[in-house]
Amino acid sequence: MTILCLNAGSSSLKFAMFAADAEITLHGHGKIENIGDTPHLLAWDGSNRLTLERRWETGTQTHETLLGALLEMLEGELGADLSGVGHRVVHGGDRYTAPVTVDAAVLKDLDTLCPLAPLHQPHNLAGIRAVALHRPGLPQIACFDTAFHQTQSETARRFALPRRFEAQGVRRYGFHGLSYEYIVRQLRSDERQAAAGRVIAAHLGNGASLCAMRDGRSMDTTMGFTALDGLVMGTRCGTIDAGVLLYLMQQGMDDAAIEHLLYSQSGLLGVSGLSNDMRTLLASDDPHAAEAVALFVYRIVRETGGLAASLGGLDRFVFTGGIGENAAEIRARVAAGLGWLGAEIDPDANARGAQIISTPASRVQLCVVATDEERMIAMHTADLLKG
Ligand code: AMP
Repeated sequence: MTILCLNAGSSSLKFAMFAADAEITLHGHGKIENIGDTPHLLAWDGSNRLTLERRWETGTQTHETLLGALLEMLEGELGADLSGVGHRVVHGGDRYTAPVTVDAAVLKDLDTLCPLAPLHQPHNLAGIRAVALHRPGLPQIACFDTAFHQTQSETARRFALPRRFEAQGVRRYGFHGLSYEYIVRQLRSDERQAAAGRVIAAHLGNGASLCAMRDGRSMDTTMGFTALDGLVMGTRCGTIDAGVLLYLMQQGMDDAAIEHLLYSQSGLLGVSGLSNDMRTLLASDDPHAAEAVALFVYRIVRETGGLAASLGGLDRFVFTGGIGENAAEIRARVAAGLGWLGAEIDPDANARGAQIISTPASRVQLCVVATDEERMIAMHTADLLKG
């Protein structure tokens, strides 16, 4: 089977193609960026060699036409014979607690969740509709970022608001679920039985969150009703006193301006005034860059304290995502902040990016695990296609 995985965003479309036989093997991956302006497609094969590049002039291209062009390129120039398409869909609400084959009824249901994730869900669903338009018979599977967190208790998911809001769906959902699910699979395949016990995984990328897990099941997470909550992120503010929003509204900002501020102008970018990119900030000697990085680390350590309390202790802490997998300095600073929990980093192992970066005496094992959300989508898609 050949499976195409799609992650459709507002101005970008990421894709990966896998062969799913006994094993899942990456055949190629790529992205179309700058959709809505001058779209630019780049694709690489499984060994990261550039295989396709294409630019479109400004104007007429939409997600729909670009996806049609992409399908033609994959099937034509790369000779792919697709068995199905797996989509990353940010929100599955209460109903979709596992991946699902999409039909008209499912799509209608998922549409009702758009107000809960306005920046992502409509684009995810537009990707499904575009594939249905161009390849009507091709099976499509939706894989949800929220599904992994369905094991959380009602208490962990509840806001202290009047009940009627919860009935409308105003509660904590949590995101990055495909990443955490993949991490758990990796830990389970480890001979150390590393998913057992009390684990906090830190997905630290442009988006960032922590997930507290007991025996591989999500118990709590830092993202909530939206992917805005929790840690400091590239351009998102993370947890913020709701009173700040009231203040901004009283100052005359409307909802669109506040949304833009909180999602796109805050976080590392807002505090540094320089960049949302951790590499740029670590390389900078601007004091505001240093303050942004300090706040990023501080909030991880503080939130870890809260999650460790909900787990009743901590056995293992896992770093993943672009920053977690690559930024030894950030790992070292987070580990130093977790010293009170008994964490002790091995500086050499950390500098090497070893799988285990704590000392044998450390009371919390510190690990680095590379995440792969696309592969997780491919696994789910293959499972559903096989029935
Ligand atoms: P992601 O969203 O998971 O792709 O992660 C993107 C983030 O990872 C960006 O902030 C990058 O600057 C950061 N990143 C990637 N490689 C490194 C590195 N070697 N050192 C520090 N940050 C990195």
